Amino acid sequence: MAPTDATTETDVLVIGGGPGGYVAAIRAAQHDLDVTLVEADAYGGTCLNDGCIPSKAFITAADVAHDAANAAEMGIHADPTVDMAALAAWKDGVVDQLTGGVEKLCKANGVGLIEGTATFEDDHTARIAHDGADRETEFVAFEACIVATGSRPIEIPGFSFADDHVWSSKDALAAETVPEELVVVGAGYIGMELSTMFTKIGADVTVVEMLDSALPAYDDDITRIVRSRAADLGVDFRFGEGASEWHEAGGGIEVVTETADGETAAYDADKVLVAVGRQPVTDTLGLDAIELTPDDNGFLATDDRARTDLDHVYAVGDVAGEPMLAHKASAEGVVAAEAIAGESAALDHRAIPAAVFTDPEIGTVGLTESEAVEAGYDPIVGEMPMRASGRALTMNESAGFVRLVGDGDTGALLGGQVVAPEASELIAEIGVAIELGATVDEVADTIHTHPTLSEATMEAAENAM
Ligand code: FAD
Repeated sequence: MAPTDATTETDVLVIGGGPGGYVAAIRAAQHDLDVTLVEADAYGGTCLNDGCIPSKAFITAADVAHDAANAAEMGIHADPTVDMAALAAWKDGVVDQLTGGVEKLCKANGVGLIEGTATFEDDHTARIAHDGADRETEFVAFEACIVATGSRPIEIPGFSFADDHVWSSKDALAAETVPEELVVVGAGYIGMELSTMFTKIGADVTVVEMLDSALPAYDDDITRIVRSRAADLGVDFRFGEGASEWHEAGGGIEVVTETADGETAAYDADKVLVAVGRQPVTDTLGLDAIELTPDDNGFLATDDRARTDLDHVYAVGDVAGEPMLAHKASAEGVVAAEAIAGESAALDHRAIPAAVFTDPEIGTVGLTESEAVEAGYDPIVGEMPMRASGRALTMNESAGFVRLVGDGDTGALLGGQVVAPEASELIAEIGVAIELGATVDEVADTIHTHPTLSEATMEAAENAM
């Protein structure tokens, strides 16, 4: 490196301003460290700009439209139309409010912000490249670095996101019109959330999935409920088919699929949304310069203090591995910042919840029954069906259940799986109980408000006993 006038010296360089990076930067600054955060694109990262927030805004709006149109049983008759441009503008407003808040919060905490792409020059220096040639290259000299560069959607051969007809999840969440026909490739959580949402606002959706079921990360009895509800809503599932190519046809496109036996099928569409997973972003970083090598899956391996193989380089969030979730990124960001500040923080992966915002929602935390057996426990399991929940019935939503898994010897709560309306909220109570070391009978003894969905958690605990 040839240091120039444009060299910033900082205690902590944070690369990436998503929920991993900005939370780490703020926490490090709160420990009186001098912190510089570099962001290549937009503060808030994938979560605020292209992921959690815009998807949940669209999903909520789609639920409003769908519920209004389907309330005849309650004596309510409506035929709502969806003005997608207005919906997109509302969603953009929510995103802007949150991303603006992140920038303000960073500044209020004294975090130095640089817009540009950071690449390592050597162990303690990064070069910052700015878009547009009118600004000179900057260097940042740092004592410690937190890499929080996140992930990007995976492309499949023949389906380039550069083509207008091929959507990544980011493109889908920037939609200003509802496609009449949409093919979704991949029935993981992003594919399932977005296909359910687009179906509810009037798209004719076909989901193509190479495996023989949706949401392979979840137990069968959970995915069956979500899949059959999506099918009832009109999603046409094509399991055991992989998307092999697409071409323009009759004003739209035709997506061709192939089974393992070589049988082909073709589906008409206006757009094809490819949602087959995400890969960590490390290629922008020039890792060779610091002799750090990603693992076989492309992630930066870390210990429970978020530290990589280099003592002064930490990695948090999607770039540091599964689960690729915003709250896990933020939790790791806090640990990395505290570790750098000399605190004794460490990451505990036992109670990281996960939610899928399908219809009904899924919420999970801790161990499933089979994971508990694998981990050497003799589990007790209690379940409460939502059809026996008074509140669920008053919401006209009776599919699903709450299941709790406990340790048969000590009674300690080990995990929970919820498939129900508001499962993303219900799972928080179970997470807190696990985190606090509660037993199943303590959950059963906790008085819950009536009538609420959360009573089902109490009843599941009683059933486990
Ligand atoms: P990111 O949020 O990806 O941020 C990384 C940042 O680093 C980016 O802003 C990028 O521009 C920047 N960057 C990259 N390289 C450089 C460089 N060299 N220099 C400077 N800056 C750089 N998670 C949930 O928990 N709940 C959900 O409901 C949920 N829904 C989702 C829906 C969708 C459609 C998608 C795509 C994701 C969703 N996620 C959800 C996942 C969540 O968005 C990610 O787990 C989270 O954003 C990861 O945070 P991060 O800080 O690790 O990375």
